[in-house]
Amino acid sequence: MSADTALDQTSVSAPTWQQLADQALTGQPISREDALRVLAADESDVLAILDAAYRVRQQHFGKSVQLYYLKNAKSGLCPEDCGYCSQAKDSDAEIDKYAMLDKDKLMQGAKNAFDSNARTYCIVASGRGPSNREVDHVADVVKDIKKEYGLHICCCLGLLEPEQAKTLKDAGVDRVNHNLNTSERFHDEIVSTHTFKDRLDTLNVCSDVGLELCAGMIVGMGETNEDVVDVALKLAELKVESIPINFLIPIEGARLGRPVTLDPRFCLKVLAMFRLTNPTTELRIAGGREVNLRSMQSMGLYAANSMFVSDYLTTPGQRAEDDFQMVKDLGFEITAGDYESEQLMKKFAERASSTSISCGTSDESCGSSC
Ligand code: SF4
Repeated sequence: MSADTALDQTSVSAPTWQQLADQALTGQPISREDALRVLAADESDVLAILDAAYRVRQQHFGKSVQLYYLKNAKSGLCPEDCGYCSQAKDSDAEIDKYAMLDKDKLMQGAKNAFDSNARTYCIVASGRGPSNREVDHVADVVKDIKKEYGLHICCCLGLLEPEQAKTLKDAGVDRVNHNLNTSERFHDEIVSTHTFKDRLDTLNVCSDVGLELCAGMIVGMGETNEDVVDVALKLAELKVESIPINFLIPIEGARLGRPVTLDPRFCLKVLAMFRLTNPTTELRIAGGREVNLRSMQSMGLYAANSMFVSDYLTTPGQRAEDDFQMVKDLGFEITAGDYESEQLMKKFAERASSTSISCGTSDESCGSSC
């Protein structure tokens, strides 16, 4: 991949894809209009767009691929109504339902992560937010995981109170995941039991205690291209360290369980657009990789630099051996990660020294949620 293709007649003065890469590499933000143009580009431009995104990926992350391993620490039994989720209160999906796993099971998950060459162990729990007891339990286990395996730990426990975030930070948790999921405009179509501002608040609380932020989205829930771009630009504004992009896995029984048709080439354009708008941020192909990118999933790594290995929360993923082979076939390398890289540390320092995260609305009274 190398040559830039000609742009259509309506955008003769717009930057070429390679010029967008130049912009990203020199730290100039990509405009909303150009980000939208990436998503709307003709299929014949997909390789050229990926090529531009790859130049940015290569500059900041080389050939590295960082693996994440997910453990569903508490499943189902959730009072929230997120339409995409098999664990929601109005979901009829047949899934395992269990309370927070005990220490042995969470330690076993850490061992699995370590054995799978994953650098980061993600502890995920269903629910609006954890009880203090659950936070204390996770904090206790994390201390032992750190001693035993030295893994980086990312917790996704829902809405957090400031003291809870501090307890996790003090225990050695490195990062908290709390996805935006979709744009502020579209958010209430997906869930009614908490708000977009609730999500921003939890990110704010975590940032305030020095936790790294992981926040991403789910593509394929009926949103527009504008919504996808809004999320990408919001995450750039928030200066998160890590962006997981999920492509909806339709789960029978969940409210958004209907079959969706996401074109794999569109998924590639989404990943490229996120790379160009968030050039130094770790970009992960998360849930739905196998179902939506299908035979083109390896190409997603020309834009993204990380992925999950093994299973997702309630759905199986590709075999770890197949993931390893895919990385090898691309000529890439599974790495210990860029966690301590200059770029990420710079981003972290920048955010820490700026004022607290703005939710972008005038309502200052927002509160909580997962
Ligand atoms: S809060 Fe979490 S577990 Fe509950 S429905 Fe939403 S995404 Fe699913």
